[in-house]
Amino acid sequence: MHELSIAHSLVELAQQHLPPEATRVVAVDVRIGALAGVVGDALEFCYAIATEGTRLQGSILRVHDVPGAWHCVVCDAERTLDATFVLRCQVCGAPAGDLLAGRELELTSIEYDTAEDAPR
Ligand SMILES: [Zn+2]
Repeated sequence: MHELSIAHSLVELAQQHLPPEATRVVAVDVRIGALAGVVGDALEFCYAIATEGTRLQGSILRVHDVPGAWHCVVCDAERTLDATFVLRCQVCGAPAGDLLAGRELELTSIEYDTAEDAPR
């Protein structure tokens, strides 16, 4: 399952960016483009497996979907990918041009507690 290897990479990356003072990781946010070829639900499931035994264990993965978008050269306008996933301009029917968005697979933020956050 390729979501599992992606989950492992995300966990590794998040651990590299996690400051030493972080005591508990609450959540990790990722942006996933509609054309990235990643199933959000599957990734969330795999994340729980990938975090086992790491500093991220018990945290949740928050997936933020990014719709696909491209530039139509005929209309000179930005078009977004709709639910049909047909890569053609909805207005003039021209094939999709340069992709502007939709291939993202990015770690955007890590939410964590530090010892100072702990109740006294
Ligand atoms: Zn067009």
